[in-house]
Amino acid sequence: MTDREKLAELLFGNIDKTPEYYESLYPQRELKEGARVTRFAPSPTGFLHFGNLFTCLVSYRTAKSTDGVFFVRVEDTDQKRKVEGAIEVMLKGLSLYGIVPDEGVVAEGEEKGDYAPYYQSARKEIYQSYAKRLVTEGLAYPCFMTEEELENVRASQENESVKGIWGSYAKYRDIDFEEAKRRIENGEQWTLRLRSPGTPEGKCFFDDMIKGKIEMPENMQDVVLLKSDGIPTYHFAHAIDDHLMRTTHVVRGDEWIASAPIHLQLFKVLGFKAPKYAHVAPIMKEENGGKRKLSKRKDPEMAVTYYDEQGFPRETVIEYMMTLANSNFEDWRRTNESEPVEKFPFNLKKMSVSGALFDMVKLTDVSKNVISKMPAEKVFRLSYGWAKEYCPKLAELYEQDTDRATAILNIDRENKKPRKDIAKWSDIPDYISYMYGESFTPCYELTGNATPALAVKVLEKYIDTVNLDDDKDAWFARIKELCPQVGCTPNVKEYKATPEAFEGHVGDVSTIIRVALTGRTNTPDLYSITALLGEETVKQRLGSALRHYKEEI
Ligand code: GLU
Repeated sequence: MTDREKLAELLFGNIDKTPEYYESLYPQRELKEGARVTRFAPSPTGFLHFGNLFTCLVSYRTAKSTDGVFFVRVEDTDQKRKVEGAIEVMLKGLSLYGIVPDEGVVAEGEEKGDYAPYYQSARKEIYQSYAKRLVTEGLAYPCFMTEEELENVRASQENESVKGIWGSYAKYRDIDFEEAKRRIENGEQWTLRLRSPGTPEGKCFFDDMIKGKIEMPENMQDVVLLKSDGIPTYHFAHAIDDHLMRTTHVVRGDEWIASAPIHLQLFKVLGFKAPKYAHVAPIMKEENGGKRKLSKRKDPEMAVTYYDEQGFPRETVIEYMMTLANSNFEDWRRTNESEPVEKFPFNLKKMSVSGALFDMVKLTDVSKNVISKMPAEKVFRLSYGWAKEYCPKLAELYEQDTDRATAILNIDRENKKPRKDIAKWSDIPDYISYMYGESFTPCYELTGNATPALAVKVLEKYIDTVNLDDDKDAWFARIKELCPQVGCTPNVKEYKATPEAFEGHVGDVSTIIRVALTGRTNTPDLYSITALLGEETVKQRLGSALRHYKEEI
């Protein structure tokens, strides 16, 4: 046995499996040409927020748009920071937004797939097997530096450009077997460090799928691979996992770019082909003329729960995230109105390099579009679900008569040009308020040529003629017939030609009726509203309005 082999045995005597064993246990995937394997690798320390949902969606779509595989790996090597239930919450969140992993951790404690285990905490032996090999090859060594020594190095490096353990700071780089043995027998703690092959002149080049060509100084630090408890660092664990799980594209937040030279070096010393990297810039927000990252602390919209609370449908959030991800998504949507979002040819190269801007106005518009295309039954079902949780008053209104509620939501819907009044379920109570006695607040303000005096004339006549059995044509014919009787014309063109000849036109007459029935000058289809209000309410509201205008003149 060589000294290095003896050292490896000393450090990892319990490890009997070799990297070759794992290489054959986790073979290359058999996928079609061009299929991408991506993953989401959460640490179970936090909850899902808009930022990581977005990165995850990018990773997911990268796999799905190439018929590849998307898996979830839990990076739980830091057991101290583990939050109970975090993974369950995260996976539920993902599935609500249409992200269902093909493999990996599919529910807390439940794994699926041939590359298991997908919890890093269950892969200690795998990491150590590769660590052992690196020691044998002289590419890693045990470092016995104490906390105090490390602290001294940190303090002395304040003005140096290259920090960390390298060059002369790497005290144990060339430690021999005998000394290591003596120290271990002495009970000294050690970490395993990379024996970095980097040089001060060396450069690291890579072609990031999002950021493009990147050149950075190569890594020179003897970074820690295994901590003193034998648990790997993120650097080491992800290199081995992404290799053995046959990840082709590592999609992750761009805060990891700074560590990419370490990672690429690790892939090299381990003899692995490096995956492609796609570093996703954080979502930004405009503030005081500048830009800043969307923040968990300052921005309610960073919490994924915000969208549920406000009543933005999940489809909206997905659709909106796609507009943030690929700027050509909106053009595609315009020409593919009813295609499912999955059909969009998602492209990592079209992502924003510096970070897409979150824009509430845009989100609202996207949502209006999404909701306008939903059938009434779906709007009812989703908004009822929301109301039960966040707006009991709306739920109670709905429950008076669910068919009527659905019919109300169906006004000006399910046609070629549906109205876009609703951006989120919390808009509905106001949107339908006049359809219910409980929430109707009269307002008799008029616009255009509609004056209180004209209103009195119109309403006196209309109360007697309105007939709830009319179909839409008959209903409108009646309003037109009423026009000449109150000095108006049913023909807007005629009015425009000789306005002095009339008190108003059919639009003004309709406004008077609309305001009386709804308290608003702008509503969806008045015929449908009239029909759904029912005779009694219609007569009573027309009567109240008439009394009001009589008093006003
Ligand atoms: N566990 C790392 C994190 O949560 C994952 C980074 C990666 O995707 O590689 O930040």
